[in-house]
Amino acid sequence: MNTPIEEIRALLPKGTPLDQSLSRASAPIREILDRALERRDVAIDDVPVLLRVEDEDLRALIAAADHIRREDVGDEVTYVVNRNINFTNICFVNCQFCAFKRQRWEDDAYDHGMDAILAKVEEAISRGATEVCMQGGINPQMSAFHYRDVLVAIKTAFPQIHMHAFSPMEILYGSRRTNMSFEDYLSMLRDAGLGSVPGTAAEILDDEIREILSHKKVDVETWVDIISTAHRVGIPTTSTIMYGHVESLDHIAAHLDLLRRMQRETRGFTEFVPLRFIYENTILYQRGLVKPTPQGASDLRMYATCRLFFRGDIDNLQTSWVKLGHELSAATLAAGVNDFGGTLMEESISREAGADAGEYTTAEEIEDLIRSMGRIPRQRSTLYGEISAPAAAPLGLAADTTPVGSIVGA
Ligand code: SF4
Repeated sequence: MNTPIEEIRALLPKGTPLDQSLSRASAPIREILDRALERRDVAIDDVPVLLRVEDEDLRALIAAADHIRREDVGDEVTYVVNRNINFTNICFVNCQFCAFKRQRWEDDAYDHGMDAILAKVEEAISRGATEVCMQGGINPQMSAFHYRDVLVAIKTAFPQIHMHAFSPMEILYGSRRTNMSFEDYLSMLRDAGLGSVPGTAAEILDDEIREILSHKKVDVETWVDIISTAHRVGIPTTSTIMYGHVESLDHIAAHLDLLRRMQRETRGFTEFVPLRFIYENTILYQRGLVKPTPQGASDLRMYATCRLFFRGDIDNLQTSWVKLGHELSAATLAAGVNDFGGTLMEESISREAGADAGEYTTAEEIEDLIRSMGRIPRQRSTLYGEISAPAAAPLGLAADTTPVGSIVGA
């Protein structure tokens, strides 16, 4: 089903001069690539065109993305030493693409108490983590101020850890439970130690598609409102797309365009992360609403197109080893990617959906994968600042050195 890795590697530039790759491309594709290379905008209508390219056009697209990545952010590939904590899998939202959620009466439903969460954070720090990434199900039995209380408990015990937590869906739920506006709720979480918010729950930012994926999920207007408010109150966020399910290429184009317009207003996105849909154990697949799509060339197309589209707006393009596996995610480094994500240490959401890349990639493994592509690994903070301690030092915890204001332009 998936494109063999040898075929993927044959698409990568590997020292071929850019001019040579461009000269073999068709005229319409070359016109788009030239525009990106000259720092002029790739238009929304160009996106579906780029996402369909084949053969020499695809090679030229990848070569252009690799060239732009080198010009804009250099040869370093960054990564963060972090731990995922999916603190509960109890959820009433019932997204059709999610194999992680459980009803509270199911045997394997769980909701970690505060002591268990603190023990996980302590263990992560002892293994060199500078970040905890925390997201969970939407648990109807949680206390109204639970998210704030978790932050306060963690930051009181471990003030040095960067808390990257709570998707826009969790922010929506928390603000409803507390009867607070998004601004007041996010400001409260910020003051309790929230360092940044994952730009997840985005899936595809189109309400008709979202209705198919999840009837109860945060709608587009509310997602934009929550993320824009986070940026306004000084909380940077990542940005994501989940691709490869029921969406069309036009939906992808509109999604990227919306994120680019938001970034031009707020400058609050730290990175963009394309996330391939993992279909195996999902209701969408079981009901025949999605067909398996081959991994490989389609992922390189997506990453390379995003490097071009976000040029000048979002510099950091992150691959996902959880979704793509180690070999393919390493290959994306030659298609515009400059960040390898995090070590994670514990990953449940993609694993439950059928991903088989494992739960933990050590810093050493990540560095080896980066070097295997001829690039230079560098451990970073969550907000792309410097880390003074070496990645391998087990207790070498360094504080996040980048002030929030410098990312959001406040
Ligand atoms: S994706 Fe999140 S909100 Fe949706 S069902 Fe899964 S845990 Fe719940």
